[in-house]
Amino acid sequence: MPLVRRSHEIWRELEAATGENLLFQCGGLIFGSTRSTNAAHGIEDFLQSTIDVARTHAVGHEILDAAELGRRFPQFKFDIDDIGYYEPEAGFLKPEGCLRAQLSEAQRMGATISTGNRVKAWHQHSGMVRLETDRGDYEAKQVLFAAGPWVSELVPQLSPYARAYRQVLYWFEQEGNAATFSPDKMPVYIRLPDAENEMFYGFPLIGSQSSGLKIAGEQFDLACNPGELERKVSETEIAAMFAKAAPKLRIRNQCLRAVTCQYTVTPDYQFLVDRLPGSDSVWVASPCSGHGFKHSAAVGEAVAELMMSGVTSYDMGQFGWRFPH
Ligand SMILES: Cc1cc2nc3c(=O)[nH]c(=O)nc-3n(C[C@H](O)[C@H](O)[C@H](O)COP(=O)(O)OP(=O)(O)OC[C@H]3O[C@@H](n4cnc5c(N)ncnc54)[C@H](O)[C@@H]3O)c2cc1C
Repeated sequence: MPLVRRSHEIWRELEAATGENLLFQCGGLIFGSTRSTNAAHGIEDFLQSTIDVARTHAVGHEILDAAELGRRFPQFKFDIDDIGYYEPEAGFLKPEGCLRAQLSEAQRMGATISTGNRVKAWHQHSGMVRLETDRGDYEAKQVLFAAGPWVSELVPQLSPYARAYRQVLYWFEQEGNAATFSPDKMPVYIRLPDAENEMFYGFPLIGSQSSGLKIAGEQFDLACNPGELERKVSETEIAAMFAKAAPKLRIRNQCLRAVTCQYTVTPDYQFLVDRLPGSDSVWVASPCSGHGFKHSAAVGEAVAELMMSGVTSYDMGQFGWRFPH
């Protein structure tokens, strides 16, 4: 929670500094059947855990029954035994804008940014770290590897634990008036799994009215090699996503776009932010197990504090190195 709250502050600070709109607090809805255990993302009862965290940290929320859900959110189709957790301050970020804002502010404050530079190898010697890249070598006292799905190429000790999984994102045409699906009327949401259906999540209509509703599921059965990700989305995958989402969400059987990306997941679905075992100067901040972007502003601040001074005001203990090496 401290990371969430600080990240919200930083996104707003970056908006003020750059004039970009980054954080859209359209509300967030987590819903599922009262008959199911609601296990998701490595957490046995995702709904109850969310409620417990909200109560402990005084996060504003409402618990809604099926009748109230149906009245407030006509974009969805609820079952009679559905229950929902609604958080008015939840929402979505525009990641491209967030990255632009972070980079331009870093540069304004004196950072040197070098992109398109691939690290091929690294070595530690006499208190320094030497990076060999395809555009020359660098030496630094402290190095942080945040290479997402490729982290195991730079930190081979992680390869049994940081596994990449192919995920697919779909945009389906909404059913009915586009205005009903705009962010001022529709929240971001997670539909929790039950005996018949797997979890899926999605967004209101962002951008133009014809851009479609972004929907995605998660799969952790087939790990992939980040360099060899199958980018093509098959008709079978599209049909399966529609079959999963259409009973719960007002969409037409018209997929406007589908793309792939990768989750890099640890065995406990948590983050890894720590020094490499046995090193004073090499750090790793990755992988984020598919839910890291929204926290990245505060995680970045914590890592910067740790690397500069060895301490941070955040409790990062649970994200420490916890794998055999
Ligand atoms: C489908 C999908 C949905 C997601 N949804 C959410 C969500 O709803 N909420 C949320 O908070 N998070 C979400 N995430 C997770 C979030 O996107 C990641 O946690 C976040 O992007 C991780 O950031 P990162 O900087 O660690 O890695 P990345 O964003 O993967 O960046 C890694 C960078 O390292 C570079 N790199 C790799 N190897 C090398 C090398 N050898 N040398 C130099 N550079 C290298 C890459 O080019 C890349 O730029 C989602 C992820 C996916 C795939």
